[in-house]
Amino acid sequence: MTDTKTLPQTPATQSPDVLIVGGGIVGLWCAARASDLGLKTFLVEKGRLGQGASGGFLGALMPHQPVSWTSEKQYQLEALLALESEVAALQDLTGIDCGYLRCGRIIPTQTEKKRAERIEWREAAKQNWPAVSPNGLPLAWNLSETPPAGDWLYPEHAPLGFEHDTLAARVAPRKLVAALHAKIKEKVEIREATEVVSLGDGSRVTLDDGTDLFPGKTIVSAGWGSFLLVANIAKTTLGRGVKGQAALLKPIRPFDPNAPIIYFGGLYIIAHENGLIAVGSTSENKFDSPSDTDHRLDDLVTRAKKLCPALEGAEVIERWAGVRPNAVGRHPMIGPLPQAPNIIMATGGFKISFGIAHKMASDALTFATGGKPQMPEMFELDYHFARAK
Ligand SMILES: Cc1cc2nc3c(=O)[nH]c(=O)nc-3n(C[C@H](O)[C@H](O)[C@H](O)COP(=O)(O)OP(=O)(O)OC[C@H]3O[C@@H](n4cnc5c(N)ncnc54)[C@H](O)[C@@H]3O)c2cc1C
Repeated sequence: MTDTKTLPQTPATQSPDVLIVGGGIVGLWCAARASDLGLKTFLVEKGRLGQGASGGFLGALMPHQPVSWTSEKQYQLEALLALESEVAALQDLTGIDCGYLRCGRIIPTQTEKKRAERIEWREAAKQNWPAVSPNGLPLAWNLSETPPAGDWLYPEHAPLGFEHDTLAARVAPRKLVAALHAKIKEKVEIREATEVVSLGDGSRVTLDDGTDLFPGKTIVSAGWGSFLLVANIAKTTLGRGVKGQAALLKPIRPFDPNAPIIYFGGLYIIAHENGLIAVGSTSENKFDSPSDTDHRLDDLVTRAKKLCPALEGAEVIERWAGVRPNAVGRHPMIGPLPQAPNIIMATGGFKISFGIAHKMASDALTFATGGKPQMPEMFELDYHFARAK
């Protein structure tokens, strides 16, 4: 890919076909795709792989509402369906169990208004979702008029029953990061504890140790750091970080690790197969420290304990915070920077990145190899630039 005639003579690693900036879930999938294509790939991560927003433990893979269908919803649906076999292949290759399960999601119904609305959702799911998942599980947005049985959700919180979407799934984020690392480590040059400090115009990229790289293409998958990194080139701010806090709890009683995700008013309760339950997340547009946790997380855990009997007496064994990349157009951002077409953005997945990162990576690599992927218009750079100040 690289036009060697116009580039300085450099060691091989200084002139990769593809340089990937940032080793979160998006950068790792990009590296996996690039190495599968046989491209000489260099991944630079300023800390450790998965140290950013991808280093948490929630891993909810939740579909958008099935109503008011858009190309973005279709994109996410296809990604969520494909992830099942992507993860299975990764597990086979690496031997790392990523804790993937199409566990579904339940949402307690507390008002007649919501119930009426959700009848519409049930019908929309029939229209917009396939009837079964790739491995044959029925996919639907079911409504139950009675409180749930069992000891996963206190019945008094679902006085009018509950909704049950069977498309939602969960994965163990840290395991998925580890599996992707295992897949790429023999084929991709990985440099951790190294920061990209300047992208130039894309033809010369500078690292914090002063090294210059001359990549064919550069994929910017640096999470919320992406926006600052390209601000000089874009001459605008293309997004921001939104902090989230989450807690990992160890229940004192046995519970079903296959239980569906509980989702209520921004609160997620996720049973994982390692016997732990994850609770999240706050959404903070303003924050001083990206990684500290505080009383907002305590409040979340208190709310979770009121909803879920399995959390009674459970001990919080980890408190964690990360910052999600939120692109200015409020949709993922994938594609070349108009001012520097050798630089390809792949970021902005915000709250749904784990479910779509593999598809974002395929699209970023299609751009990197000179193609134009089929992608929702609102993911394109023009869409985001039109919304930037
Ligand atoms: C509390 C919380 C709960 C969440 N729950 C879910 C969930 O249940 N499901 C879901 O799908 N999503 C969830 N998310 C969102 C999801 O985690 C993020 O959208 C996703 O991790 C973003 O991945 P990324 O690869 O774009 O960014 P990141 O994971 O942040 O990776 C970017 C990497 O780039 C590196 N970097 C930055 N700048 C540079 C530079 N200049 N040079 C080199 N490296 C650089 C960073 O160190 C980082 O490792 C949650 C997020 C939070 C905070």
